[in-house]
Formats: sequence, C-alpha cells, structure tokens
Amino acid sequence: MRSKIVAGNWKMNKNLTETETLLAALSAKLPDTEAEVMVAPTYINLTSAVRHLESSPIEVIAQNMHFAESGAYTGEISADMLLNVGIDTVIIGHSERRAYFGETDEILAKKVTAALAKGLRVMFCFGEELEDRKSENHFSVVQSQLKNALFSVDANSWSKIILAYEPVWAIGTGETASPEQAQEMHAFIRKTITEAYDTSIANNVSILYGGSVKPANAVEIFSKPDVDGGLIGGAALNADDFVAIIKAI
Ligand code: PEP
Repeated sequence: MRSKIVAGNWKMNKNLTETETLLAALSAKLPDTEAEVMVAPTYINLTSAVRHLESSPIEVIAQNMHFAESGAYTGEISADMLLNVGIDTVIIGHSERRAYFGETDEILAKKVTAALAKGLRVMFCFGEELEDRKSENHFSVVQSQLKNALFSVDANSWSKIILAYEPVWAIGTGETASPEQAQEMHAFIRKTITEAYDTSIANNVSILYGGSVKPANAVEIFSKPDVDGGLIGGAALNADDFVAIIKAI
C-alpha cells in the first residue's frame, strides 16, 4: 500500500548522548500525522534508539548493511544483526555509499536481494549526477540504476520496497530539484516500473524525494501527486526543522 513517509538520514552525525537528546525532542514535538516517520541514526546507536522509541510511532531504520549472511567482513553489519536489534527497514544505495564506498549496481542488487530474503523492508536510493542532468541523460541513468539493482526483485517483494529518488546534485548542496522536476522524474519512475512489472506495483510503491528538503520548500515538493514524502539529510538533524517537514506532509 502506498503510504506517505518522512525519513531522516542522520549519516555520520550525532553521538549517543546527542542521539538521545534529538529523539527526546522529536518524540515530544511529533505532530499527529498519517505519515510514517523514520530516523536512521548511525549503527552503534541503533539499539539505544530502538529502546528509546519503544512506545513511539517513530521507526528506527538502518543506513546500510552488507549482503553476506555473516563472516570475515571487518567493519560490516548483516541483515540478521539489524533484525536482532529491532530494525525492520534498511536504506540501500545512498549516493554517498555509491560515491565514497564504491557500491556498484551489482553490489546493491546483492544487498537488496539479501535484505528482502531476510524480510527487511528496503528503502532504495538512486538518482543522477549533475553531469547526467546537464547532458539530459538523467532519465536513462535513473532507468538503468533501477534495472540493474532492483528489477530482478520478484513482483511479490515490491510491498517491501520504498524508493527514494535523490538527484546527487541536490544532496547537501542547498540546491533542490524544483517541484516540477521532482514530479516529472517520479512519474517517469512509475512508468518505468509499469513497463517492467505492472501498473498496480507502480501505483502502490511509495516514492520519496531527497535533496535539500527544508521546511521552506517541503510543502511545495510534497504537494506533487507522485511525491509520497521525503528522505531528509541535513534538516533531519534539527528537531524543529524535521517536525516542520513532517507537518508539511
Ligand atoms: C540525503 O543525504 O539523503 C539527503 C537528502 O541530504 P540533504 O537533505 O542534506 O540534501
């Protein structure tokens, strides 16, 4: 079922004390909303965040995972480890993982398969770079990212997938895709999914927009019919800003 979602990706920010302070502020200020609200603290604070939010509707999600079951992968975290501390949803394919940690479509496809096989929900991120948009290749880049990393997923698993379209040029830059650019791409994504699967899957998947969403631009972006919410970076680190974005939906 397509739902509204506002998710905060905290990246490598907030130590344990700061995590608890931000979660307490968010819990206190959380508005009544039909949207799913999610936060993705760093790995070492997931357990504490899950405990802290035990009686809260805010869901704690993970920023990444490894595709292997277990083994000699120093520094990595498995799907089972996430499940074991109460995590149900994992972000896969964030542009920073692709750019700084060499995560290719092939690696991401393995991560998606491994996460779904364990019953995790996957928030799959993708989006074009500035050069792709300037050369008007943004549609084909997005299409190939989806095809290469996601479209081997069987139709039944799509209920466990959330998409986050994040144009790389808009992430952490203060530049936002215009609401029209976001809508145009989200509609294209649904068309691409319809062609690969069917209309029902395309219409039921939540597609979030990410890239410098702030309280000042959230209402306009979220008002577009194919935009089902946002993946928020910088603005998710401040309780008032994140709450204002939740209210915008
Ligand atoms: C992100 O990293 O997913 C993101 C959207 O960051 P920001 O909101 O800071 O652009």
